[in-house]
Amino acid sequence: MKLQGKTAVVTAASRGLGKGIALRFAREGARLFIASRSEEAIRRAAEDIREQTGAEVACLAADISRREDADRLLAAIRQKYGAVDILVNNAGGPPAGLFLELDDEAWRQAFELNLMSVVRMTRGIVPLMKERGGGRIVNIISYSIKQPIPGLILSNAMRAAVAGLTKTLSMELAPYGILVNGLAPGRILTDRIRELDRITAAKRGITPEEAAVEAESGIPMGRSGTVEEFAGAALFLASGDASYVTGQMLIVDGGLTKTY
Ligand code: NAD
Repeated sequence: MKLQGKTAVVTAASRGLGKGIALRFAREGARLFIASRSEEAIRRAAEDIREQTGAEVACLAADISRREDADRLLAAIRQKYGAVDILVNNAGGPPAGLFLELDDEAWRQAFELNLMSVVRMTRGIVPLMKERGGGRIVNIISYSIKQPIPGLILSNAMRAAVAGLTKTLSMELAPYGILVNGLAPGRILTDRIRELDRITAAKRGITPEEAAVEAESGIPMGRSGTVEEFAGAALFLASGDASYVTGQMLIVDGGLTKTY
């Protein structure tokens, strides 16, 4: 087991990529603290992970876009575990929309959800990693850092900001043994992707299934990725196998992104 004895925090973990990563870390021996907005959903996720793995899983309902909730979550993590080895900064995606459709409030919300959540959680957890003499931070971003996605301007802008933050933090925190990387999904099948397919379908007058087939035809591997495949890449970055990897943006996209 690659994370035996490690303590990992995963935000936005009631479903999708966050839940998949939490489950994989638990299978590898980590004890967890997971959070997402709904009390019922995060409790259910924690219970499910416990049942499947026997791991210790603490959980808390917290909206990671709100400073008060992030503070409450950090206090609970400090009280429960004291020190932390791994932090996965994940959050929901901002809404789709074209530039002229989005007002200041939409931009502010995306900033709080996708950038400030990473800033606040990292600021709170780094001292707990120093207690351990090192740590791993994995920021979930998007392949849009290499190839902006039409119609997702909020996400495109915020992910680029998180990539800049990730690279800078990797330099600042390397002397403390804390490695910081970005992990960028292409098209990994989750509720978020199904929702985006529905939006595309409604706009184009096609079915969501047709939208999915069209999207997958642009992927050299010819299919969407699975949450398990994505979680495997997160495990790599969190484990001893990545002991000399920091400041990188690892893209897990079946070859979708046309760049190095
Ligand atoms: P998802 O919608 O399936 O799951 C999102 C999770 O985030 C849920 O657990 C939800 O409860 C939680 N969440 C949402 N807003 C929150 C908040 N304010 N506070 C706390 N928790 C919150 O999405 P996903 O596909 O798992 O995507 C995770 C992230 O990766 C998103 O930011 C998404 O935009 C990004 N992303 C995903 C893909 C993909 O292929 N799935 C591609 C590019 C980017």
